[in-house]
Amino acid sequence: MTLEEKVNLIVGGGMNVPGLPMFGANAEPSAAQKRVLGAGGTIVGVQRLGIPSLVVCDGPAGFHPFNSGQSRVYYATAWPIGTLLASSWDTTLVRKVGTAFGKEVKEYGIDILLAPGMNIHRNPLGGRNFEYFSEDPVVTGNIAAAVINGIQSNGVGVSAKHFFANNQETSRNTLNTIASERALREIYLRGWEIMVKRSNPWTIMSSYNLVNGSYTAESPELITTILRKEWGYKGFVMSDWFGGKDVVRMVKAGNNLMMPGLPPQKQTIIDAVNAGQLDVKIIDQNVADILSIILLSPTFKGYKYSDSPDLKKNAQLSREAATEGMILLKNSNALPIATGSSVALVGNNGYELIAGGTGSGEVTKMYTVPLSDGLFHAGFATNPELYSAYTKYLEEETIKHPKKSMFEEFMSPSKPIEEYTLGTDLIAKAANVNDHAIICIGRNAGEGSDRKIEGNYNLTEIEKLLIKNMADAFHAKGKKVIVVLNIAGPIEIISWRDNVDAILLAWQPGLEGGNAIADVLSGKVNPSGKLATTFPASYADEPTGKNFPGKEFKDKPVPGMFGQPMFESEVTYEEGVYVGYRYYSTFGVKPAYEFGYGLSYTDFTYGDLKLSSPTFSDKLTATITVTNSGKTAGKEVVQLYISAPNNKLDKPSSELKAFAKTQLLKPGESQTFTFTLTARDLASYQTKTTSWVADAGTYTVKIGTSQTSKQTGSFKLAKDIIVEKVNKVLTPKAAINELVSKPAAKK
Ligand code: BGC
Repeated sequence: MTLEEKVNLIVGGGMNVPGLPMFGANAEPSAAQKRVLGAGGTIVGVQRLGIPSLVVCDGPAGFHPFNSGQSRVYYATAWPIGTLLASSWDTTLVRKVGTAFGKEVKEYGIDILLAPGMNIHRNPLGGRNFEYFSEDPVVTGNIAAAVINGIQSNGVGVSAKHFFANNQETSRNTLNTIASERALREIYLRGWEIMVKRSNPWTIMSSYNLVNGSYTAESPELITTILRKEWGYKGFVMSDWFGGKDVVRMVKAGNNLMMPGLPPQKQTIIDAVNAGQLDVKIIDQNVADILSIILLSPTFKGYKYSDSPDLKKNAQLSREAATEGMILLKNSNALPIATGSSVALVGNNGYELIAGGTGSGEVTKMYTVPLSDGLFHAGFATNPELYSAYTKYLEEETIKHPKKSMFEEFMSPSKPIEEYTLGTDLIAKAANVNDHAIICIGRNAGEGSDRKIEGNYNLTEIEKLLIKNMADAFHAKGKKVIVVLNIAGPIEIISWRDNVDAILLAWQPGLEGGNAIADVLSGKVNPSGKLATTFPASYADEPTGKNFPGKEFKDKPVPGMFGQPMFESEVTYEEGVYVGYRYYSTFGVKPAYEFGYGLSYTDFTYGDLKLSSPTFSDKLTATITVTNSGKTAGKEVVQLYISAPNNKLDKPSSELKAFAKTQLLKPGESQTFTFTLTARDLASYQTKTTSWVADAGTYTVKIGTSQTSKQTGSFKLAKDIIVEKVNKVLTPKAAINELVSKPAAKK
């Protein structure tokens, strides 16, 4: 290959967005760009050598080419968002979703899907949290591996994103994330490591941010030392779109592919080679990594895609998956409700479902099923007066605020339609005629901005009044009030939850959402989702709150990706490893709903926990039997936490190490699980020795749903085990004043 051919291969073919030439698009779209109009990018092959060009496309919740200005619009399955899938804690189900999802994108002609998103939910306000799975790396890594194994089983690839510590949208292209090596290793890298080792994604997407002073896309420590050498990663790394700054440093770091690819990047690389500043052998390696993936691709194999995936079948799976990740937060004898009964449905989002978030992770859906339709389909009678009032209001507001393109949204995000102010006269009439009230509260968010505390994390005044008025009117008649949350991340619940009888966290459930919610409300499906993210009692409790979203340096302006104003910025992860439940449980701060929590329409009992040995040598198993002791068939999530000795390193009071979900257990039916614990599961990261070390002492195993253990057991480790020695990399430039639970303890 000539140098030009090699460089063409490592710098993508630009983005074919009509009217936006700055995206590197050619005047005349290439054949690959024409293949899937609006796809996020292409990898440019070498025709002379029979190396085909590949097409890559978003995104995590469904196939998503950009349709603005394109002559063709692709309709696709909107799957439940990543946060919902993770809340199922069901790797078999998630793999099944991945398999169907991969088949759908393959039938649309795609080689690599830009998914899944797998950053940690560090703070509840993170705008892209909907694309991500959990605050915990073990959940994140295992769910990511499941979806990737499913997608890739079709012979299409993924690009797991965004690698790494990319936990907010504010200042996303300029943000320097400052964190300790231990927090990075234990929280922000661990999920990636689990995922890489269990699923070997074809590609990984580096992130926009810097970590301890280096752009991830320019960091040989991250991409070469950790990813390739320590974890043995075999695929290739692409940048996020326009990510990284110095293209030569990116090439040297092992960021194989620059996306979407701009002509000046090519010239810079060629100039660097000619000037002797870049060894062509490095380019050769980057090219080789890409070629080894091209060999696997549908395009290379000449796959004849149908251009008509089975959207009907996938919609059914999307509905099934949605029901499995919904979480029953509260139930005072209110749910399930009998089909045939009548419902007063209120709240904008009861009539307009938020199927998923915005930005590149949005999906062009053929349809969405709002809850109003879902209830109707399930055989409930809904209130026609409320229906007219809400649909009329929403229609009028939609005309006033026409939908903007994704790029316009980036430049100036639209405010959501304000919650309709429902008059007390209609509420009183509904309380007379309807059997129950359902209040739907919705929140949307997405790429480009984070959520706000007021009016978003906290309810708006109109929403608070709506809940109060509905509760007063329905309770006065002895009728129940149910709240359905159509949201993607935590909101404040404590101040209003005593006013209502049941709360169902439906998340953003994909295109069939209304049907799926009705399945759970009616009891057709027994809820079995559990929180993979803590719901704090108040935002003020959040350990990351004082360092979110960090500082912007207004004296250091930099142009944003689409010309929007941005500034150099930084955020310091002073909470260290105390993210999510690791903080709440260790510091005794009671959240509204804890990590792992979720109710069911049945009960489960746990048999005795059996540990294979009272002492640990190199492995130990924990065996437990779970029985459905209630009256309804249901599924339970079995969670295994470990409390490690805490006399040396400062450690969280307990950490999730393994989990499993039962099959559908009939009343009286049992299932037995055996979990294997390895030394790595006992180890924490010791910065001084750059090693994962399991400290000698007594370990407690806690098994149950959430950290409320149903069964505990303990074992001893006689001597410290150095499980793995790793490299001294990603070191912060200055000491960080990290949170510790015992002031005397060392980090
Ligand atoms: C996003 C990525 C996405 C890419 C291509 C970027 O702005 O951060 O997640 O895959 O665009 O659309």
